[in-house]
Amino acid sequence: MATIILDQPGVGRALTRIAHEILERNKGTTDVVLIGIRTGGDHLAAMLQERIAQIEGETLPLGILDITMYRDDIGTRTNLAIGKTDIPFPLDGKNVVLVDDVLYTGRTIRAAMDSLMDLGRPKSIQLAVLIDRGHRELPIRPDFIGRNVPTSREELIETEFNEKNQPVEVRLVKK
Ligand code: 5GP
Ligand code: MG
Repeated sequence: MATIILDQPGVGRALTRIAHEILERNKGTTDVVLIGIRTGGDHLAAMLQERIAQIEGETLPLGILDITMYRDDIGTRTNLAIGKTDIPFPLDGKNVVLVDDVLYTGRTIRAAMDSLMDLGRPKSIQLAVLIDRGHRELPIRPDFIGRNVPTSREELIETEFNEKNQPVEVRLVKK
């Protein structure tokens, strides 16, 4: 059985709110950069970039991070699809907003922070996620949240994307 958490307008509203919250927290766009975690977070980061440009008239730098190589369980996983990290701007002194679709144990974010630190010295790192499904195993918490969805470990968040890579539905499903 699947429960619908967010429909397409719901995702849109959550991202618009998060865009405002990012601007409020950072007092505008100065030195703010967006970095989406592949895959899922990269599309959401692009949607946030678009909204912030509409609100503030500034297009934030947008990077994509692939953390596959940094995961601490890399030795135990097979069939790793290695994507590409693309961050074509310096991170030194920047307020980095990391963007991901679902936050779970926090291990992906820890790995993302590790890999960012290898690339430069950001002034701050903030975290935006569409869904926080709980079950953290590390002291990591999001700064900007679309929806808090308490889940059991037997449940999964399923996000359906359209051909433009925009989420059209977010569902809670039993594994
Ligand atoms: P974590 O590293 O926090 O355990 O898991 C977060 C990463 O795994 C995110 O990049 C996210 O895309 C993926 N993930 C974890 N749980 C779910 C889930 O229930 N649904 C989806 N779509 N992705 C998940
Ligand atoms: Mg993901």
